[in-house]
Amino acid sequence: MPIEKTPEKNAILFVWFNHYAGVLIKTPSKTLVIDPVDIRARSFPNADAVLITHEHYDHLDPRLITEIQKATDCTIIADPASTQRLQHAIPPEKLQQIRPDEEIKVGEVSVKAEKCNHPAAAPVTYIVTSEDGVKVFHTADSMPFPELAAIGEREKFDVVFCTVGIAPGTSPETGFEIARLTKPQVAVPYHTNSAAYQHKFAEILKKELPRTACLIPELNKIYQVSKRK
Ligand SMILES: [Zn+2]
Repeated sequence: MPIEKTPEKNAILFVWFNHYAGVLIKTPSKTLVIDPVDIRARSFPNADAVLITHEHYDHLDPRLITEIQKATDCTIIADPASTQRLQHAIPPEKLQQIRPDEEIKVGEVSVKAEKCNHPAAAPVTYIVTSEDGVKVFHTADSMPFPELAAIGEREKFDVVFCTVGIAPGTSPETGFEIARLTKPQVAVPYHTNSAAYQHKFAEILKKELPRTACLIPELNKIYQVSKRK
């Protein structure tokens, strides 16, 4: 799966690579990998940073992260609980803890943490802004929460990843609620192994939020999204 391609200007590429929140984002200058599990380290030979949202097994695999870090010398950015789990495996200068409202730069790419509504120790969601200003909101496996409306208003997202299953309390309806609150250009239903759930999400979105496009991702396929006009 290593992505050789580079996105066009004012665009990003992304790949969804497991049934959870595993997403690779490639900007013109950087490659970011979020919550890698159920995949081989060699899938990410060009990783500049790995971002971890929380310590659950479907998001944090310390052995895999250690392997990716050793092979690429990338930076690991993680919520406090995951940071603690990683601190004996990752060189301290390569491990950066992040909490909601904090921002870390990966070159010209901005990684900002926001709150996450999920029963984990100290989970975060991530806003990734490319050097061209393309805005991606990776909501981990969060349930909706009211502050999403203000975040969406402020950021004007190009892409928002919306959990539609597996995690406690989540469904196509809660995934849609995340899209409704954040109003992105493109909404991506993920964190599921049910195509039916993704299609249900698409159906609700089309009816209730027709200005947001639905992109149902296939695993390990590359998608390009451009900045909204
Ligand atoms: Zn999960």
